[in-house]
Amino acid sequence: MNAPLHDPAHPGDAPRAARVLERVALRATTLGDGLPIRRALPTRQRRMVGAWCFLDHIGPVQLPAGQGLHVGAHPHTGLQTFTWMIEGELLHRDSLGSAQRIRPGQVNLMTAGHGIVHTEDTPPDTARVHAAQLWIALPPAQAGTTPAFEHHPVLPGWTQDGLRCTLLAGRHGPHQAPTQVHTPLLGLDLAAGPQAATTTLALEPGFEYGLLPLQGEVQLGGEALGGDEFAYLGAGHAQLRLALAPGARALLLGGEPFAPPIVMWWNFVGFDRAYLSRAQADWEAGSVRFPRVAGDEGRRLAAPPLPWRAPPA
Ligand code: MN
Repeated sequence: MNAPLHDPAHPGDAPRAARVLERVALRATTLGDGLPIRRALPTRQRRMVGAWCFLDHIGPVQLPAGQGLHVGAHPHTGLQTFTWMIEGELLHRDSLGSAQRIRPGQVNLMTAGHGIVHTEDTPPDTARVHAAQLWIALPPAQAGTTPAFEHHPVLPGWTQDGLRCTLLAGRHGPHQAPTQVHTPLLGLDLAAGPQAATTTLALEPGFEYGLLPLQGEVQLGGEALGGDEFAYLGAGHAQLRLALAPGARALLLGGEPFAPPIVMWWNFVGFDRAYLSRAQADWEAGSVRFPRVAGDEGRRLAAPPLPWRAPPA
C-alpha cells in the first residue's frame, strides 16, 4: 500500500527506497483502566523513528463522567518518556518526588536511565483528553544514567504559511527546543488555524521521519493520510510538502537512525534480554532501584510474565 512520494528536491538520483512513503496502520489498544488509544510505534511494520521508540495517540476523547485516565505506579529503564499535551491535563508523579501538572502546549520529559517509577492521572476537573505519549531510547552511554524529570511550560513556536509550528525536540532552522535529548532528534507539532494551510518544511537528509495525523485531514507529499495511519519516510529527503485542512493538526517526528538495536519489554528498554530480566526481577522484588512514588496510594502495576525464559537468579 506504498504510494510514491513527490519530492521535487530529489529529481531522480535519490535511492528508490528513500522516495517511498510507508503507511503504517495504528494499532488499537488501551491505557490505564481501559481507555481506548491508538499506538503508532512500535508495530510489527515499524519499530522506531530515530530514537523515538514508542508513540501512543491518546484521544481526543471525552472521559466518561466520574472516570479518568489513571496509570498506576510502574517502572521504566533505558528510555525517556515524553508527553505532549494537546487538550486536558495530566498529573505526573515520580519516585524522584516530582509532582507536576501538565497543561495543553506543555511537555513533560522524564529520563528513566537506570530506573524510575511514575504514575499518571487526569485531575477530577479534566473531562477531555488529547495527548501524544512517546518514549525515546537512550543511547548506550546514557542508558544507565541517573533518573531526571523536566517540565517545559513554554516551547519555541512560529507561524509558517498559516501553520502554527511548535518545536518539541531538537532543532529546526533558527529554533532550538529546550528538551534535553541524547541523540539527534526532531519533534514538531503543526496546527492549521481556521484556514487550510500548505507549507514546505526543510528536512535533515540524514534523518528518517514519521508523521502522525492528530486531527483533521492531513496530506503529505500530496498523499492523504487517514486518522488511523502513521506515515514513515526513510532518510534522504531535503524537504517535505504538507497540507492541512482547516483545524487539522499533525506531529512530525525525526531522528538519525538509532543503533544498536534495542530490546523492549513491558516498560523497559535495554540492549539485551538479560538486562530486561534483571529489571523485571528488581521491580518484582521491590528493589531500591525502583523507589516508591511519594503521595501515591494506588496499586503498583504488575509486569506480565517474561516472554522468554529468565536466567537463573
Ligand atoms: Mn510510563
